[in-house]
Amino acid sequence: MTATSQVAVALDRIKRFDPQLRCILRTLDDDATARAAALNSQSGPRGLLHGVPIAIKDNICTKDGLTTCGSKMLANFRSPYDAHVVERLHAAGAIIVAKTNLDEFAMGSSTEHSAFFPTRNPWNLECVPGGTSGGSAAAVAARLVPYALGSDTGGSVRQPAALCGVCGLKPTYGRVSRYGLVAHASSLDQIGPIATDVRGIARVLQVIAGKDHRDSTSADVAVPDYLAALDEPVGPIRIGIPCEYFGDGLDPEIRKAVETAVDVYKKLGAEVREISLPHSRYTIACYYIVSTAEASSNLARFDGVRYGHRTANPRDYIDVYSGSREEGFGPEVKRRIMLGTYALSSGYYDAYYLKALKVRTLIKNDFVEAFKQCDVILSPTTPTPAFKIGEKSDDPLAMYLADIFTTSVSLAGIPAISVPCGLTSAGLPIGLQLMATHFAEVRLLQISAAYEAATNHHLALPSVLAH
Ligand code: GLN
Repeated sequence: MTATSQVAVALDRIKRFDPQLRCILRTLDDDATARAAALNSQSGPRGLLHGVPIAIKDNICTKDGLTTCGSKMLANFRSPYDAHVVERLHAAGAIIVAKTNLDEFAMGSSTEHSAFFPTRNPWNLECVPGGTSGGSAAAVAARLVPYALGSDTGGSVRQPAALCGVCGLKPTYGRVSRYGLVAHASSLDQIGPIATDVRGIARVLQVIAGKDHRDSTSADVAVPDYLAALDEPVGPIRIGIPCEYFGDGLDPEIRKAVETAVDVYKKLGAEVREISLPHSRYTIACYYIVSTAEASSNLARFDGVRYGHRTANPRDYIDVYSGSREEGFGPEVKRRIMLGTYALSSGYYDAYYLKALKVRTLIKNDFVEAFKQCDVILSPTTPTPAFKIGEKSDDPLAMYLADIFTTSVSLAGIPAISVPCGLTSAGLPIGLQLMATHFAEVRLLQISAAYEAATNHHLALPSVLAH
């Protein structure tokens, strides 16, 4: 297929299915069509993603169109530059066809906190797609585009991937440059790919991984050939099962599906052993102190002065700040700013922020110990399947608990993937999370591909496609 026809198919599918799903904030028809035409007539070697349509979460800057972060604050914001990942995608021949919906500034777990509209789950339109990259995950699940990019600070690629029945990878902290990703919590944020299978994840990671001098936290670590690694024999597999991830509160159908996945690995000859991540119960508290502290600082730049929303007719300059922020930010973002500012304030800094940093080290050390005994750690991605729209939106704590299995990985900076591992009796997808040590994406992808090859969960199609 030519680039032009691939783009036409994607735009057509968006037109057909997105009115129900609302996963797309904007299509980039003209830019995408023009880029495709240029690629059609291009001679010479082809990039790894030549002519492939891709959707990008709307907190990743693109010169084409707007970059809103799902916020009124940036409702009219045009980025003067492309994010590093966008440059890489373009250089590989990919075509960005759409920007996807998200929870405002990537804060949430359901995509209901978008200032524009909630996104719906392609498997059940009454349910959330997860978040915050819910638009990207739903777009891939509904086969609107083959690949999408999300960002993952505490689970925002893996959790929506799990809830939408697709694969999502959070790479190692530093593997992918965040230049041009609007910051949420800088010590945690990573950009990651979403695809229907592990090979797709490897293909996109291949293009976006690597050092970029404009993000000083991007690591100068050689980028292996992820795709070639998938064709190599997987070799001996050692799996660790953390007992703390299988306690009360885990949906019984998810428990069953994950246990069945463990059996699949045993049949493949894997050595499976129980391990312990003893500080797991502090993860949510630690994550929500560290991330809100960083968010409160990162969001200070939205002051109504330089860019973004500015209040009309301010009385004085204080009113410029407070009026613009009051009008521009939604309730969840304001909640995070208040929590984070409190945790950082003098008198509380030691008790909350500093303490959380120490706990973070303990959580990270749990993984260091665990990886002495296994190559990957296996767990559910989420404690429950997709929940109903509105079910948790007024209960921040219930929403935060949706991240219980994904945040420790982020605090430790290690890579983790969610792959589909079956459906509940109500027909909702279940995600299996596999975690590996820093920069062990090759092993992670090989081991998840072995599971995928032995099952066919990734081939199941969501109900929205039947209409
Ligand atoms: N749900 C988590 C939060 O609200 C994770 C968000 C994310 O990974 N961007 O912070």
